[in-house]
Amino acid sequence: MTNQELIEKIKTIKEAQPGNLMARHFDAAYFLSLDEHSRQRLVRIIASGIENPDSQMGAYAMNPQDYDQFATMLDPMIRDSHGIPADIEIAPQNDWDTGGTACDLGAIDERLKDVSMRVRVARNVSTFPLPGAMSREQRVAFESVAAQAFTKLIEDPEFGGQYLSTTPGSPHEIDEDEYEHRVKAHQMFKDMSADPYLNVAGISADWPHGRGMYVSRDEDFLVWVGEEDHLRIMAMQHGGNLNVLFERLRAGLETLTGLLPPFATSPTYGNVTSCPTNLGAGMRASLHMKLPGLTSHGSDLTRLKQEAKKLGLSVRGAGGEHSGAGKDGLVDISPSARLGVTEMEIMQRLYDGAAALWAME
Ligand code: ADP
Ligand code: MG
Repeated sequence: MTNQELIEKIKTIKEAQPGNLMARHFDAAYFLSLDEHSRQRLVRIIASGIENPDSQMGAYAMNPQDYDQFATMLDPMIRDSHGIPADIEIAPQNDWDTGGTACDLGAIDERLKDVSMRVRVARNVSTFPLPGAMSREQRVAFESVAAQAFTKLIEDPEFGGQYLSTTPGSPHEIDEDEYEHRVKAHQMFKDMSADPYLNVAGISADWPHGRGMYVSRDEDFLVWVGEEDHLRIMAMQHGGNLNVLFERLRAGLETLTGLLPPFATSPTYGNVTSCPTNLGAGMRASLHMKLPGLTSHGSDLTRLKQEAKKLGLSVRGAGGEHSGAGKDGLVDISPSARLGVTEMEIMQRLYDGAAALWAME
């Protein structure tokens, strides 16, 4: 495709898909002002949004430096996505102190004492390209680095557990049945090669090489290796006390951080992630809640999505992004914001939002 053809194609997408942020913020003059090498790099970053016009973001970074080097295009996309005006400075903010706030859903209603809670953060190390630009060798090499760190976690009585790999021939390799079982249990990630967005971005390349998951003895602390980011670090529990869940993640993240190469960060955005929607805290805190009233037993998410949006929450299906609601209107709700908010603010928004939706239900 010539430059002119590409520019025309993106213009057509912009008209047909106004929600595609890549197309909305693509500027032909900027694109043409870049040298040939930079143009090719930018095309790789935005390829997913070109090949998948229905994308919401439409871009994935290939290297942490992309956020600086292509800031002219990416910064307006990031601000648009996160709702941060151009004249407001973005400064990374962190606050993990659960001391001052009690976020116990069980105190609102007995029936919220035993919901499924999950909170994850996305992290990438600075010693490898981001997943969209990794070679197979790099994916497997990164997995070894991570597996080494997990060996230490496994020896630690606070964690224990095991590492499970999908890499053919790995000493930790699991079979198809075990993999499927872990996906159904909402622990392991889905087959990435079935995801058209990740495919075009190169993030799912070489599947299932260099992919795996650490799971603690109590199955309440888990780490994905080689999904959309190098690492997705999470705490998962049944219960209602979000403070306990957060504390588990905070402690696990701290221990793991000490065992790994430094994470990739940006002075502007904080934690660097493949998808610009995850920049900053990189955190998604979610509850699986049964909301049959607000979803007409799961058949229609329109009303729930509307109400959730007013509360700053996103709604996903029971199987994660791009899935439908489960039995009895089982859905995944989580605060939408990741950037310009602290970890504690995310937890507070989940708690307040869940309480409000529950009252409506
Ligand atoms: P993310 O992109 O935040 O890592 P996904 O939407 O890809 O999450 O979902 C990953 C997996 O986590 C899916 O199996 C999903 O059902 C599961 N999951 C998400 N939130 C919860 C929760 N609160 N309880 C149990 N499983 C959850
Ligand atoms: Mg995901």
